[in-house]
Amino acid sequence: MQFNDITLLISAVDPKQYPQDGLPEIVLSGRSNVGKSSLINTLLSRKALARTSSKPGKTQTLNFYQIEKQLIFVDVPGYGYAKVSKQQRERFGQIIETYLQTREVLQGAVLLVDARHEPTEDDFNMYNYLKYYDLPVLVVATKVDKIKRSQHNKQTKIIKQKLQFDPSDQFVFFSAETKVGHDEIWQWIKAHTQV
Ligand code: GDP
Repeated sequence: MQFNDITLLISAVDPKQYPQDGLPEIVLSGRSNVGKSSLINTLLSRKALARTSSKPGKTQTLNFYQIEKQLIFVDVPGYGYAKVSKQQRERFGQIIETYLQTREVLQGAVLLVDARHEPTEDDFNMYNYLKYYDLPVLVVATKVDKIKRSQHNKQTKIIKQKLQFDPSDQFVFFSAETKVGHDEIWQWIKAHTQV
């Protein structure tokens, strides 16, 4: 898909800074280094729109990317980075909690986990957090090019079991290298934002 108009509207920490024109939003979250920037860049056919993180856990803002004046991707800070202080962790919690609690235009969440591993406690907590706010979630298992096709079923089971995956949600494998999963992810986003 080709996009002509993608704008980083704002890097916000406070609800007063959130965009006000009522476009539907999809929030994207995952632990640092899971491949979130790579996913966003792939979905938007950009090389380096969302920066692939050289310093994981550093960005503590919500980044609002407006796409063709139709919808907004909200990129939340990567969690679970060991070197982040307790204070930064709490700050992160506040920023995302305020957003999830108050944001009426939020339509759904994309949660990224690593296709190779069992989800972490942080992943489990984030998934449950999103479910607590009744959000439809698309679980994207990243870096699937790093596992064999024969492992797909086993990894799907491991990931769903650890997350206590809700069957009404959707699960998809993705690779920024091969682009597998790209179309399903866009389908899900479109279905949930009516664009
Ligand atoms: P973020 O911290 O979640 O934004 O993660 P990045 O997008 O910066 O990716 C972290 C690292 O994983 C980088 O070295 C990427 O090149 C690599 N990476 C991301 N996605 C994939 C993928 O689908 N396949 C492979 N093999 N590597 C990936």
